[in-house]
Amino acid sequence: MKSKEIFAETALLPSGWAQNVSVSVDPSGRIAEVRKDAQPGAFTHRVGVLLAAPANLHSHAFQRAMAGFTETRGSGASDSFWTWRQVMYRFLEQLTPEDVEAITGFVQMEMLEAGYAASVEFHYLHHRPDGEPYADLAEMSGRVCAAAADTGIGLTLLPVLYQYGGIDRRPLGAGQVRFGNDPDRYARLLEGAEAALTGLPPDARIGVAPHSLRAVDAERLTWASELRPDAPLHMHIAEQVAEVEEIRQATGARPVDWLLDTHAVDGRWCLIHCTQMTEAETVRLATSGAVAGLCPITESSLGDGIFNGESYVGQGGRFGIGSDSNIRISLSEELRTLEYSQRLASSRRAVFAEAGRSTGRVLFEAALSGGAAAAGRDCGAIEAGRVADLLSLDAEATGLLGRAGDQILDSWIFAGDDRLVRDVWSAGRHVVREGRHVARNGIEARYRRTIRCLTGAI
Ligand code: ZN
Repeated sequence: MKSKEIFAETALLPSGWAQNVSVSVDPSGRIAEVRKDAQPGAFTHRVGVLLAAPANLHSHAFQRAMAGFTETRGSGASDSFWTWRQVMYRFLEQLTPEDVEAITGFVQMEMLEAGYAASVEFHYLHHRPDGEPYADLAEMSGRVCAAAADTGIGLTLLPVLYQYGGIDRRPLGAGQVRFGNDPDRYARLLEGAEAALTGLPPDARIGVAPHSLRAVDAERLTWASELRPDAPLHMHIAEQVAEVEEIRQATGARPVDWLLDTHAVDGRWCLIHCTQMTEAETVRLATSGAVAGLCPITESSLGDGIFNGESYVGQGGRFGIGSDSNIRISLSEELRTLEYSQRLASSRRAVFAEAGRSTGRVLFEAALSGGAAAAGRDCGAIEAGRVADLLSLDAEATGLLGRAGDQILDSWIFAGDDRLVRDVWSAGRHVVREGRHVARNGIEARYRRTIRCLTGAI
């Protein structure tokens, strides 16, 4: 196989914006060479604007299919995360392995079309509806891998350890038995997931995910953190006020404080949400080196709260973006929602902007580096040696006319949407062309069949 070459009129490199950039990608899917002030070759793929493509650092793929089912009030005086979770549990009781593969393929395709090149799947739906394992313990993990094989997305698979139904160590409820594993079975599941990943290209990764402090006890959190010492380690934390209060009552400390007091949290940790932190927790987390996994659209949808972004970034904290519940797949909207949440909370504008870098650029570059770290993936920049996760924007679109430098990112994120995304390469695989996934017809047809059956059964 010969290397591919991409020629961009404008590209964002680690050194800043550059013109007439040629990027060659070797057959292994890594960037071989980057040249500025180049000329396009005869067989080069030409684009207007070339950017590194971020990893989506947090997804529960199957939840895509229940988007729009949870926007009515329950019988109580107010609705909340916890009533949303009841609907989610009822929905997932229906799902077969075939359904999970079809939904996962569809949402991965949408992620690619939105500009993400990779997805970190926080995967907790392991067993049959009655809680019995499938004949292949890693059946569902295999289905996530099969979807990634179809879509070409760069997959980091995080099989989830889920032990309990709550912080009081109650058994799993009826809606949770599909998630549960004791430590021995979890260790075997992890091995099964690793075996399934060997069928994917070499950029696929494994990671470990103790679900949350509600679902995993302290001893097993430590145990899980040592299972794959070089792999990414993710967990949900500090999402909801009620959750923080439960953990404070059970442990005497707020969740982020408790975790930082009891575990050596460093750059391999990705802590999902962190929407409920005190100022002191914010500073501690920022200086730990961990990545905060922010999911602004889902956090808005669920009423989780507002991340303490200005203080966190001011202390050098790292963050990336995830689509979590997948109620809507839009990279630009995730970044816009994050910034707008800060503006609404502080009554100020351009909260993340800094000297020499606009709001859109700061947000986008954070998503690149935080996403790469959280995915355990050597991507996130257009430079030789990195995994070739790339996207192009349509420089001829009316929304980008006359824009240069950071204005390109600001116009995409704040004034446009993901229809500006023209091409996406995941580890060099050119899976989105002219704004459309190359296998969209088949993936969409399968998803349509699945949803017709599922919605009829609910
Ligand atoms: Zn989540």
